[in-house]
Amino acid sequence: MAPRNKKNLRVCRVCHHVVEGESCMTCGSTNLSEDWAGYLYIVDPKNSEIAKKMNIDMPGRYALKVR
Ligand SMILES: [Zn+2]
Repeated sequence: MAPRNKKNLRVCRVCHHVVEGESCMTCGSTNLSEDWAGYLYIVDPKNSEIAKKMNIDMPGRYALKVR
């Protein structure tokens, strides 16, 4: 399910996690982008081919592309 207000969401350029705040809760980075595409919700990273390709090892919300 895609977020209703995508404009308020930013994505961490380091780990591609979707962030709702001033810094990434996963890696602590403040290098965030509002220009992203491809909303991903990873439930089970160990059984997800996309998660493996993106080196995601935690469940959560991610963006496929971040500019
Ligand atoms: Zn991050």
